[in-house]
Amino acid sequence: MMKSVNPATGEVIQTFETHSEKGVEKIINSVDKCWQQWKKTSFFQRSQIMQNLATLLKSNKEELARLMAMEMGKVLHEGIAEIEKCAWVCDYYAANAENFLENEAIETDFSRSYVSYQPQGTVLAVMPWNFPFWQVFRFAAPTIMAGNTAVLKHASNVPGCAMAIEDLFREAGFPENAFRTLLIKSDLVEGVIKHRAVKGVSLTGSTPAGKSVASVAGSVLKKCVLELGGSDPYLILDDADLVSAAKTCATGRLLNAGQSCIGAKRFIVVDKVYSEFLEYFTYEMNKATFGDPCEPETTMGPLARTDLRNELHKQVSLSVKKGAEVVIGGGIPDRKGAYYPPTVLDNVKPGMPAYDEELFGPVASVIRVKDENEAVKIANDSIFGLGAAVFSKNIKKAEKIAETQLQAGCCFVNDFVKSDPRLPFGGIKESGFGRELSSHGIKEFMNVKTVVVK
Ligand code: NAP
Repeated sequence: MMKSVNPATGEVIQTFETHSEKGVEKIINSVDKCWQQWKKTSFFQRSQIMQNLATLLKSNKEELARLMAMEMGKVLHEGIAEIEKCAWVCDYYAANAENFLENEAIETDFSRSYVSYQPQGTVLAVMPWNFPFWQVFRFAAPTIMAGNTAVLKHASNVPGCAMAIEDLFREAGFPENAFRTLLIKSDLVEGVIKHRAVKGVSLTGSTPAGKSVASVAGSVLKKCVLELGGSDPYLILDDADLVSAAKTCATGRLLNAGQSCIGAKRFIVVDKVYSEFLEYFTYEMNKATFGDPCEPETTMGPLARTDLRNELHKQVSLSVKKGAEVVIGGGIPDRKGAYYPPTVLDNVKPGMPAYDEELFGPVASVIRVKDENEAVKIANDSIFGLGAAVFSKNIKKAEKIAETQLQAGCCFVNDFVKSDPRLPFGGIKESGFGRELSSHGIKEFMNVKTVVVK
């Protein structure tokens, strides 16, 4: 049994019967059977249905945003924006998949040689709850457009979203078994990865989950793409526009109540502008109004689950015990629901969870450094390497730091890190490997086949 629990109230909204091992076997076999036909369809046919899916998303965006608000606490306007982005990724791959996967001629001594991208079968997606639609669509749109089929194991706290996604694919006109949801807990994931019809696995989630899935995939030599945790550093250099940087950093920290892999997490500020930045930044963080995610004036909802909120508070408390100073927030509010206030921690140092670990909530770690060389060193002093940002009026200098010095998969100058269907997305180090989105993402589960004619 799986439950949808409203994190704003603690109430159970709906319960769902989970699939048995036998049920899972039956679904995977149907999805594999569907693939035998789906791979033969033309890009034109696929793109027509993918565009229907985009239209369907757009026309149901309010209802789908409400479902997210109820299941994981996302505020409505962010939910609507998430669904619009899902429609965008569907339209983007409907328009570009054929072009991305065209044969590539390569000049050799043979009469003809080229690379052809061939679909391989069914791919498993193991997905998190924080962007319950976007994470799935950014995987599914390219996968299905490329001629593969997909099964989804979504996070256990968003079964309603998981089933809604399956319904959307069917309603758009995809074959019944091109995309299926498996309502299973993580203990059945190993069996799915090992199933003969499953050709690869894409996991978005925490680093421990990534390690576990990668070791199973490795044991049967199946490809995996891992989009894992992050602790993105934001470097504030002494020539930054501090007012604008503070605003952008607070937005990057508080989006989705701070529960984003590419959320701004560590603010590394050079000594000369430290106090001024901290003052502006705290002001911006304090502006958030947290409350019922379904109320239009709310800018930040509850966290997705009470256990996750309590875990975050433990990380904050331990950091404070080790010498971090609370500028604002830092306490569990006296109200029902999984709420946590916007929190700014000053004087963050190595050895504290706020420095070493990912804080998955609205908590900002502010770190003082003497100059930009030390800022880069501290930024890279992390097990993670997902996103990073540099703030400076000297664009040339900031760009050089972003391009050549920061250890991350995506580096932004004077803005917070965001994903975009046109740009490759992914991390290095313990933030994972492989890329999603753009022309790179669609090739991850394809057979890059060399064809040579003598
Ligand atoms: P999580 O606990 O790792 O769960 C993610 C998914 O993995 C869920 O479906 C979960 O199932 C499943 N799972 C967990 N342990 C597993 C295991 N040992 N074997 C197989 N499956 C397993 O992460 P989360 O709390 O949902 O999401 C937050 C984390 O995701 C953060 O660390 C965040 O940074 C990361 N994230 C990364 C990206 C990115 O693109 N890099 C994007 C979003 C989020 P159950 O729910 O049933 O446990």
